[in-house]
Amino acid sequence: MAKWVYRFGGGSAEGSADMRNLLGGKGANLAEMSALGLPVPPGFTITTEVCTYFYANGKTYPADLKVQVEDALRQIETIVGAQFGDAKKPLLVSVRSGARVSMPGMMDTVLNLGLNDETAKGLAKQSGDERFAYDSYRRFIQMYGNVVLGAEHHSFEEILELHKSDLGLDTDTKLKAEHWKKVIEDYKAKVEEEIGKPFPQDPKEQLWGAIGAVFGSWNIQRAVTYRKLNHIPEDWGTAVSVQAMVFGNMGEDCATGVAFTRNPSTGAKEFYGEYLVNAQGEDVVAGIRTPQQVTIAGKKANNSTLPAMEEVMPTVFKQLDQVRAQLEKHYCDMQDVEFTVQQGKLYMLQTRNGKRTAAAALKIAVDLCNEGLIDEATAVARIDPASLDQLLHPTLDPKAKKEVVARGLPASPGAASGQVVFTADDAEDRAAKGADVILVRVETSPEDIHGMHAAVGILTTRGGMTSHAAVVARGMGRPCVSGAGDIRVDAGKKLMVVRGQRVAEGDIITIDGGTGEVMIGQIPTIQPSLSGDFATLMSWADKVRKLKVRTNADTPSDARTARDFGAEGIGLCRTEHMFFDGDRIVAVREMIMADTVEGRKKALAKILPMQRQDFVELFKIMRGLPVTIRLLDPPLHEFLPHSREEMAEIAKAAGVTPDAVAARTAQLRETNPMLGHRGCRLGITYPEIYEMQARAIFEAAAAVHKEIGETVDAEIMIPLVGIPKELTLMKAVVERVAAEVEKAAGFKLPYMIGTMIELPRACLLAGEIAKEAEFFSFGTNDLTQTTYGLSRDDAASFITAYERQSIIKKDPFISIDVEGVGELVQIGTERGRKVRPKLKIGICGEHGGDPASVHFCAKVGLDYVSCSPYRVPIAKLAAAQATLSGSDGRKGEG
Ligand code: ADP
Ligand code: MG
Ligand code: MG
Repeated sequence: MAKWVYRFGGGSAEGSADMRNLLGGKGANLAEMSALGLPVPPGFTITTEVCTYFYANGKTYPADLKVQVEDALRQIETIVGAQFGDAKKPLLVSVRSGARVSMPGMMDTVLNLGLNDETAKGLAKQSGDERFAYDSYRRFIQMYGNVVLGAEHHSFEEILELHKSDLGLDTDTKLKAEHWKKVIEDYKAKVEEEIGKPFPQDPKEQLWGAIGAVFGSWNIQRAVTYRKLNHIPEDWGTAVSVQAMVFGNMGEDCATGVAFTRNPSTGAKEFYGEYLVNAQGEDVVAGIRTPQQVTIAGKKANNSTLPAMEEVMPTVFKQLDQVRAQLEKHYCDMQDVEFTVQQGKLYMLQTRNGKRTAAAALKIAVDLCNEGLIDEATAVARIDPASLDQLLHPTLDPKAKKEVVARGLPASPGAASGQVVFTADDAEDRAAKGADVILVRVETSPEDIHGMHAAVGILTTRGGMTSHAAVVARGMGRPCVSGAGDIRVDAGKKLMVVRGQRVAEGDIITIDGGTGEVMIGQIPTIQPSLSGDFATLMSWADKVRKLKVRTNADTPSDARTARDFGAEGIGLCRTEHMFFDGDRIVAVREMIMADTVEGRKKALAKILPMQRQDFVELFKIMRGLPVTIRLLDPPLHEFLPHSREEMAEIAKAAGVTPDAVAARTAQLRETNPMLGHRGCRLGITYPEIYEMQARAIFEAAAAVHKEIGETVDAEIMIPLVGIPKELTLMKAVVERVAAEVEKAAGFKLPYMIGTMIELPRACLLAGEIAKEAEFFSFGTNDLTQTTYGLSRDDAASFITAYERQSIIKKDPFISIDVEGVGELVQIGTERGRKVRPKLKIGICGEHGGDPASVHFCAKVGLDYVSCSPYRVPIAKLAAAQATLSGSDGRKGEG
């Protein structure tokens, strides 16, 4: 018989933490905590395999599931000493969803299941608290009616509001038992009206209804969206946990709360949590009542006037603090827990590895290592390279003048400025048009996810550090300020008011998610740097990493930034950008207009000293490290004038008529410039261009060599080679110039000549090309274009449709297409190294900073990747993780 159900409770469990694929994260950890002897209400978990079966078999269950569920239910009854459906002493349960990875708020949990008109009476009598019993019953009808039966959530809210206003009461806590009884009657009538059937009174029917709803919720829209955004496979499925209820809403000695074992925003080793007295389940995160702090320190830090749990329930607090220590020691990681206190007794309802900001992740990893709980390699493996992006974002310039108009909680760090929007849809619309937007809401809910994703920052006026907005923003790496209570939002009017100032949709505000400050207008920011825990962790990554990481840098400022972030050289310096600078463009255009070699040489002579100076600077900044310079690549018409004025200016400089300029411009225009007169084809037709560039490089190298007394490690790269002879000819030009410069300088210049491999033909003929080339650099942007026959500049209009229909998994311009483009890289590498075993090989292009692509490069055995300056730490960490995971296939030396 297949095992579909795993039990936990009473100090033991059939499951364990490593069974998350089968039991879901929540079920696996409930089992683990139970086995650890922590106070966990007993229960059982129905496996994700049942979910798979459910969808594969027309939403039905395996035949033997029923018996297994009933047996497990009986065990709960025994442990708790109450019976499911019993009118005197009823057992109530929660029915909870749980996928392999946590999907916060994505699927719905039903609490207090097992209540009906009879058992509610029994609960009232048994607990001696009628109010509690009927409050629980109405919560159940509300949740079950909405989640399982599909009745509108607001129908219930409206009924409750009506009752409250009739009674003249403003908060739920003031309603008495007899009031709740009346609310319940109206709730039941509403359900019957909406679904055409009475509210189910049979607890077994309720249970199976809820189980079906949890499995069904795997495919509701917001769960599907969340999976899409987080790349969670559709076929994983969810598990269902059924667990005996414990009650935080039984009076003043009861409470419910959520906590992090360390601060999830900063990573500091301090207990961080929120709780509410006399409350149940989601009350803390729902924002209905303002949550209180668990610790006295937290209360101080949040300027809260409400008493901390540490003060109100010192004994339970101490116990919770012990559980905190035990869990951290056991899981060797920061935990995010849910707990409930029932009449002074603590129960643990959930634990999982807590979501945290990148800064917190670094601090926690470094601290845990220093505390001896994990080793350096584990610390390095724990950090998601992509998350470092958060730390590589700007923060507010401390010198900038700013007027703080409101303060909230520092829910997710980073500074952001943008246009205010008040709905998720508006956020998406404006962002699609290229605007930076800040999404401002009273609070967010899972329906807002797409808007949060589109926004550069999120601001809420309600909710704590564990509110939906805070948790989701941290996960997404969006700056977020939550609970800025001084701001009044009128979403209907698309307006917010702060300190009497009206801020309308489209107005600019700035938020600082690191401090919780809100400012009107745009505040200048400063660039991040590598220090503290970040630097420590990167030094550990550097110890294991084999793949080198260089940068793509065209300007001295890029090169400096990259070097500060630990770049090990320049992998790609594009020289065309230098052609656009200031008054050079006039000389460049003059060169293009010339119709004789002499004319071109004359114009190139003007550019030479400027280009030489660029290289002098780059070589100095990168001293001691290799610098790869790509000779001119784009088609000439990119440098041509567009407006009449520009044409007139060129005409004057070149001594020709404006009409001649217009004619030349038209002549150079190509139908398909990407496949046209570009790359080394330019060097073939106008060798004097490459000659000038080579001269600039070597003269700069000689000058720097003389000045600093150190050799310059220059690598000259010929672009877009597809025919070996192209390289042979261009190499001859470069070598001749080198010899001339060496002769003039009176010393040898070390240099290498190589090529960019960006055409499928070059990959196939890599052996032949390697006879001439001393290095390869895979230009994977162009190689992706030419392999797919897909224009990078035109793909945007349809690539999302391809992703949506799963025709492709990921945009191949962002993450390397391992099967196609990757195979060509592999072929090129093998064929090249066969001819020249010490061939130095790297990649440049967007892929160099994408962690998955970095893994691929390590596996194929490349020597280095090159990426944009801000991605250098990301690439380095990904490279270290590739080595740690054993997928680094490099054979050659470093
Ligand atoms: P989510 O995944 O959305 O957090 P949960 O299944 O964890 O959903 O449950 C929602 C809320 O209900 C949580 O606050 C949880 O602590 C509470 N809860 C779940 N099961 C029980 C139970 N058996 N007794 C008391 N509270 C419960
Ligand atoms: Mg939970
Ligand atoms: Mg290219």
